[in-house]
Amino acid sequence: MARARTVHGVSVSPGLAIGPVHVVQAAPDAAPTWSVAEGDVAAEIERLRHAVEVASEQLARRQQLVARESSERDAQIFAVHRMILADAGATREVEDTIRGERVNAETAVHQLIARLERTLRGLEGNSVRSYSADLADPWREVLQALLNVTPILPQGSADKVVLAAAVLTPQVVTAVERGRLAAVVAEVGGRFSHAAVLARAFGVPCVVGLPGLLTRLEQGMTVAVDGGRGVVELRPDPQQVAEFHQRRSRLEARRASLSEQADLPAQTADGVRKGVLVNIESVHDFEIFDVRQSDGVGLLRTEFLYMERPQFPSEDEQFRMYRRVLERMAPKPLTLRTIDIGGDKRLSYFQTPHEVNPALGWRGIRVCLEWQDLLRVQLRAALRAGFGNELRLLLPMVGSLEEILAVRKIFDGVRDSLVEQGFEVESDTPVGVMVEVPSVLFTLERIVREVDFLSVGTNDLVQYILAADRDNPWVAKLYEPHHPAVLRALADIARVANAAGTPCAVCGDMADDPATALLLFGMGFDSVSVAPYFLPEIKSALRRTTLADARRLAVDALAQDTVEGAKRVLSSIRDALNGA
Ligand code: PEP
Ligand code: MG
Repeated sequence: MARARTVHGVSVSPGLAIGPVHVVQAAPDAAPTWSVAEGDVAAEIERLRHAVEVASEQLARRQQLVARESSERDAQIFAVHRMILADAGATREVEDTIRGERVNAETAVHQLIARLERTLRGLEGNSVRSYSADLADPWREVLQALLNVTPILPQGSADKVVLAAAVLTPQVVTAVERGRLAAVVAEVGGRFSHAAVLARAFGVPCVVGLPGLLTRLEQGMTVAVDGGRGVVELRPDPQQVAEFHQRRSRLEARRASLSEQADLPAQTADGVRKGVLVNIESVHDFEIFDVRQSDGVGLLRTEFLYMERPQFPSEDEQFRMYRRVLERMAPKPLTLRTIDIGGDKRLSYFQTPHEVNPALGWRGIRVCLEWQDLLRVQLRAALRAGFGNELRLLLPMVGSLEEILAVRKIFDGVRDSLVEQGFEVESDTPVGVMVEVPSVLFTLERIVREVDFLSVGTNDLVQYILAADRDNPWVAKLYEPHHPAVLRALADIARVANAAGTPCAVCGDMADDPATALLLFGMGFDSVSVAPYFLPEIKSALRRTTLADARRLAVDALAQDTVEGAKRVLSSIRDALNGA
């Protein structure tokens, strides 16, 4: 038996898991590749044809949408794309590849796209080149359709799997259903990227920063992942497996005892009430976690509802989903964030422009203010579901007062038209904004007068303050939530909000560290909202700390001029908590 090997990386999400590895992406943007047995070739070709049909329907839907929202002229491009898909020549080429090379449909489509792109690079002149790009685009749609409908795991294998990839992306984390996901490991990835947020939200261990890992893996080989320490054990021997299981039992026992206490109120040792809420993506979170131990949902990321589907969810579909979550949470509040797409959160059926710098691009409320029907439909569904429930609305990526006023106007229009149509709606649904674009910091005194609450999205705020893309592994070292500039910005937000009497929370992932959560309470934040996995630990830390201690922690951390200094202060609190 080959010797076990230990690989050290960077912790993204804690927890211990062991299982067979399944490589889902050997290179960034690569399609999964497997070989197809001779007897399965016909079925694979059938799968391809079905995907072409699905893609063509998606294009037709998009054509209608653009015609309605924009103009018939803008929508024509989708008609052209559908004609391209109807061309038998290209389909034959892909089918020949499947037959000749005995590879899956994704690989064959990928080869066609690569050939079209090579042709494109060889062409002269912009217009010819963009025409050539149009030839490849519809096939990307087919690839997407294949990826959406394809179970990537071999049928029949019952084990949970450890997914491995070159780069940590949301597609990788969601490549298998949650129930079959043991852990995720990737050669590169950002600790606060959207994919990392997802791994923590799912409560699965995740490690990145493992250069060359994929060359050392074989499909199906056993690996043990220690997410908290950022360690991956390749081919552990029986003794190591036994030790790993023992550690996991100890961890589970500890979490069970913390969870028993987690029903108690979130308050400091001296009885000051604070809020510990949860960030969730869907109603499934209620099945996996004890979400009701929280003070409410501080962030429902609704974009995942859109990302999971092959087309825009209808108003009624959204209404039913929001209603279910509100009812499961009642009488505690639910903070519904309006759709925050853009960047790496893309919808396969909604063509957004290819942006050179998506983090600074068309995201969140910027998309909704341009495609206002997207927002209107969502607000209608939310307001209908919110009747008789504790609904709050939260707007992502707001950068200016004008944007807030524009959304308020749309919101009032939606409410009036619902009332006209005979729907019952609340008259005072609170509307808050995410503080995640730095311009808001400098205009906060004015902005707090227009909103009912603030929720700081540190995942984005940190990237924008430090000019370090949260999804770019090459600047992951520069992305430092405990940077003195970030800590001072956070303290300022709490100060301005407290002075105005506006409730303020932090819902970015830095708050899922108990010591950092205490620091935020000490700065003056009323609540934190974290992935459910972290809730018991944070409540326990809060209940063992006085408000005066938390304030002293904030003063000490804010006095530091370096990240190292702030981290030292936080580790002393961690030691105190662990020793207590
Ligand atoms: C954030 O930016 O901190 C946040 C909570 O939102 P998201 O991670 O979805 O961008
Ligand atoms: Mg954000």
